[in-house]
Amino acid sequence: MTKQVEGIVMGLIAGFYDVQTESGIVRTRARGVFRKNKEKPTVGDHVQVQIDEQGTSYLVAIMPRQNLIGRPALANVSHVLLVVSAVEPDFSLQLLDRYLTFFSWQKVAVSIYLSKSDILAADKLQEIRHELDYYASIGYPVYDDWAKLAAELPKAITQDQIWTLAGQSGAGKSTLINHLKKDLKQETAAISTSLNRGKHTTRTVQLFSLGEGFLADTPGFSAIDFTPIKLNELCNYFSEFKKASVNCKFRGCQHLKEPRCAVKELVQEGKIRQSRYDDYLLMRNEIANGRMPEYLK
Ligand code: ZN
Repeated sequence: MTKQVEGIVMGLIAGFYDVQTESGIVRTRARGVFRKNKEKPTVGDHVQVQIDEQGTSYLVAIMPRQNLIGRPALANVSHVLLVVSAVEPDFSLQLLDRYLTFFSWQKVAVSIYLSKSDILAADKLQEIRHELDYYASIGYPVYDDWAKLAAELPKAITQDQIWTLAGQSGAGKSTLINHLKKDLKQETAAISTSLNRGKHTTRTVQLFSLGEGFLADTPGFSAIDFTPIKLNELCNYFSEFKKASVNCKFRGCQHLKEPRCAVKELVQEGKIRQSRYDDYLLMRNEIANGRMPEYLK
């Protein structure tokens, strides 16, 4: 008798899919039908696996995806841990705003982790923490040191959520992944080593269990492009602008030269940071020009 089980694709190794099911990991192949339909099961996919009485299994169906983002692609990303470095490369509000806007557009929640805070002078670090307090106040959870992240991240990852990292290259994403993995006993580790001996094995992104969900073992996003965002929708992805805009005189206010604009009033009062507003204008330019500025590539 064949049975069908549900699971999440944890990794892809040499043509096999590792699917985490209720009763453990099933290593399986995909049915040829996917190739015919030009569909490809992806890490993070919720799938159906058919297992016959001899134990032969096939991945037979992919459930509808919430999203598919990144390179290598990851499906059903529920949360991004955005790694911003305190130093080397220097802390950048502009970069932070770019990432937050991009993921807001992608409808993916973000938490912020400040890396390398231990190698920055105390007064400089204080300034950055002050900046990050603002982001916490508009709804982004902030982890401003490693101890706090290590203690709280596993609790933040709720059932079956898939988290991935994002941030500038050099911000310390790989180091962070390695630190987090060191603390874990990996169920997949044993299986991976036995099948990973071949020279031609290429590895894509892989999920590992953390908290009640998963963290993707990938350097994640570094460069982002939001020129596909519609110009008049950009302001919706600045959460505090969106909240304030109900008090703007005009519906669809772009917070530029319109009279009685609640966003500009709050900027003037210092309740919305000037840097956020300036970055909003920069991004508008970028979208209007249809390309990223050279210095950000
Ligand atoms: Zn306005």
